[in-house]
Amino acid sequence: MAFESLSERLGKAFKNITGKGKLSEKNMNDMLREVRMSLLEADVNYGVVKDFIARVKEKALGTEVMTSLNPGQMVVKIVHDEIVALLGNEEAPINYKKTGITTVMMVGLQGTGKTTAAAKIANVMKKKQSRKPLLVACDVIRPAAIEQLKTLGESIDVEVFSLGVETKALETAQKAMDYAKEQGYDTVVFDTAGRLHIDEELMQELSDIKAFVHPDDILLTVDAMTGQDIVNVASSFHEQLSVTGLVLTKLDGDSRGGGILSVRSITQVPVKFVGLGEKIEDLDVFHPDRMADRILG
Ligand code: GDP
Repeated sequence: MAFESLSERLGKAFKNITGKGKLSEKNMNDMLREVRMSLLEADVNYGVVKDFIARVKEKALGTEVMTSLNPGQMVVKIVHDEIVALLGNEEAPINYKKTGITTVMMVGLQGTGKTTAAAKIANVMKKKQSRKPLLVACDVIRPAAIEQLKTLGESIDVEVFSLGVETKALETAQKAMDYAKEQGYDTVVFDTAGRLHIDEELMQELSDIKAFVHPDDILLTVDAMTGQDIVNVASSFHEQLSVTGLVLTKLDGDSRGGGILSVRSITQVPVKFVGLGEKIEDLDVFHPDRMADRILG
């Protein structure tokens, strides 16, 4: 599971200071050095770590000692709060329209878990948010992707709209919107094509669908296992499509977790969901504070 070694190292860094009634400057500097090393070792972006440590230091030096906490505990709280800030502070729900059909477009590189996430999210919408979602198969490059979405749709009892691989993705999206109106769906989730690498053709296809659909959310799936590369991928997609949310997948895998801590603060795109396994229910709405608790163990 991501963050295991980071949690362990941070725990050690804090151990030396939490019992102390007084903190010397040396205690503080040692602890900050350890936190800095822990974050770098977890593969967090260098600039993000630098700013993070500077903010913690500034706050720790500037804060009056609270009566309920000893100075060591207070510094730990400052680190905790700064990690929450790094992760975006607030939960970021789906941008549901007040009236009319809410549209959500899933984008991402192939293999990141986009199709799985589309179904997992449709399942949350249906079961927990009382929505009536329609899934749309706009990944017309790979017949297997359409079949995969249909199988997932069946398993959660959500209809999948597809016109097969002969029809262009944009036309499928257009017809799907007509169908959704006719059938009284209030939410449409589009699964789009991914590639192994970002290329112009992919971005053009996504831009065309975006221009037609005007999505209320464009959710980019990024794979936690890809480490710092998450940041580059997310930045490229965001530049071209103005992504409104991230879905961090494969958090159950054995990653160091650094990319996750960097991606929100560099792109400023909120994380909306996290994928925690292959099963349909292995998806959580992202809570920055709960994630920070997990990181700090
Ligand atoms: P796509 O090409 O981006 O649409 O990716 P898929 O949805 O087909 O997923 C690729 C693989 O990753 C599949 O084997 C999924 O079961 C797996 N997968 C997706 N999300 C997760 C996750 O959160 N955790 C784990 N362990 N596997 C996942």
